[in-house]
Amino acid sequence: MSIRKRWIAIIIALLLVGAISLFVASEQANAPASDGGNTEQLEADETQTTETGLDKTKYSIDEPGSLWWIVSRERPLPDGYEPSNLEVPDTQLRLAATAEQMQLRGTVATATEAMFAAAQSDGIELVFGSGYRSESLQAQFYNSYVARDGQEAADRYSAHPGTSEHQTGLAFDVTSLSGACHLEICFEDLPEGQWVQDNAHDYGFIIRYLDGKENITGYQYEPWHLRYVGEELANELHENGQTMEEFFGLTGTAD
Ligand SMILES: [Zn+2]
Repeated sequence: MSIRKRWIAIIIALLLVGAISLFVASEQANAPASDGGNTEQLEADETQTTETGLDKTKYSIDEPGSLWWIVSRERPLPDGYEPSNLEVPDTQLRLAATAEQMQLRGTVATATEAMFAAAQSDGIELVFGSGYRSESLQAQFYNSYVARDGQEAADRYSAHPGTSEHQTGLAFDVTSLSGACHLEICFEDLPEGQWVQDNAHDYGFIIRYLDGKENITGYQYEPWHLRYVGEELANELHENGQTMEEFFGLTGTAD
């Protein structure tokens, strides 16, 4: 092969390599537009983020112990679940500090202390009524309610053992110093009840069982039952008046 032919062969080879590179590059440039996977991912992300920028997938609603864990009759706790890191909040307590019910998960106890202190500075004395309940304590309560009111009535306000939000250590019942309207709907009309409705979300708490949402949550209105979900979600739910079930698309899960 002459030097000239060899050069021609080299140039043709280089041109071919160049052409193939250009072709591959243009295919790659086209890929995102034709690849449905990327587009779907973007759309999924958009629907998981609220108008205020809250990521609905930030915490699991299924994982035991998660901040947004949803527990209900249809979503029972694992058998014998016990939260870790239980503490007695440094607040006004309804019972002795040694009572099992006077405990909450550590982060929730801290938030409770902050909320009670804020209420106090507004002239409102909140009392910590009942927090963590083990499965066996809930069984004692439930059985006594059934004995008193019958099962149908008891099921409207008390959870079956193993399905109570109190067992998570993330929820508690708030009450007043006088004990008036303790665990009664009239609590909403007391200054304490009003304060909680207006301010609890600022400390990460929601009124878990809202008025008129019994068919969604499975429980009658409980203006005293507060559940810790963190400030972001509490603010969101307070703004739009939704239950956790509605916000996370679990409507229709109740009996
Ligand atoms: Zn409660």
